[in-house]
Amino acid sequence: MRLLLLGGTTEAQDLARRLALRDDVEATLSLAGRTSNPARSPIPTRSGGFGGIEGLTLYLRENRIDAVIDATHPFAAQMSANAAAATAAAGVRLAVLTRPAWTPQAGDDWREVEDINQAVQALGETPRRVFLTVGRLQAPAFRAAPQHHYVLRSIDAPEALPPQTEVVLARPPFALADELELMTNRRIEMLVSKNSGGAATAPKLEAARRLGLPVVMLRRPPLVAGTVFYEVEAALAWLHGAAP
Ligand code: NAP
Repeated sequence: MRLLLLGGTTEAQDLARRLALRDDVEATLSLAGRTSNPARSPIPTRSGGFGGIEGLTLYLRENRIDAVIDATHPFAAQMSANAAAATAAAGVRLAVLTRPAWTPQAGDDWREVEDINQAVQALGETPRRVFLTVGRLQAPAFRAAPQHHYVLRSIDAPEALPPQTEVVLARPPFALADELELMTNRRIEMLVSKNSGGAATAPKLEAARRLGLPVVMLRRPPLVAGTVFYEVEAALAWLHGAAP
């Protein structure tokens, strides 16, 4: 069977490694092409947008794709919506491989917000030292609150930053000890995060909990369509059933 795996996440990498071992599935990993040096893929990879719903529908038809697994990031809402519409149009099966959202635990002080502009507002008027972990593409929004000092962590170098910003280039996973050290050394007073879920970036939340720091947490967009799995194994089992 021919599978299109929409990736850009740790889960997609895990699934790709498993698919590489199977000779009954011809899988292609698709990346948006945002990171300049993406993790090595064990299966054939294509990169760059498809050209909206129409472009993806055409790709599915031309490449005779039997099934799509959407393992994009929970905040990649546009890609997921396009995948839902294009698979419906082309009559291709769709499954979503994602991670459960994080939930606040005892001792957490979360301020949940709907979008990036609300996150900017939630920082308040008083200047603070803020740890931004929302990805480099969202960083320009914080120019609207230039009174704060930001420590921005991203994989690639960001552009159009707020004036007082220190950039830390790093790629997940992150360890608790390192998160505690970073937040303590930089005298961080507030953390801003997307509710991405997953283990690779969760230690920042534990660090904020231990240090008693408030967290501005962006709620994730709703899932659009497709059978949803939270485990690579379950997605592989679905694939077996989806074979033509
Ligand atoms: P998005 O806003 O949902 O997607 C915007 C456009 O980028 C899509 O319409 C599509 O272009 C293209 N695109 C996105 N993912 C693609 C993929 N896997 N393969 C081919 N084209 C793709 O997505 P995003 O937030 O920019 O995220 C881009 C990628 O980064 C995703 O693969 C995602 O898993 C990863 N990522 C995102 C986040 C995040 O917080 N958003 C965090 C970590 C990793 P066309 O319409 O032209 O097809």
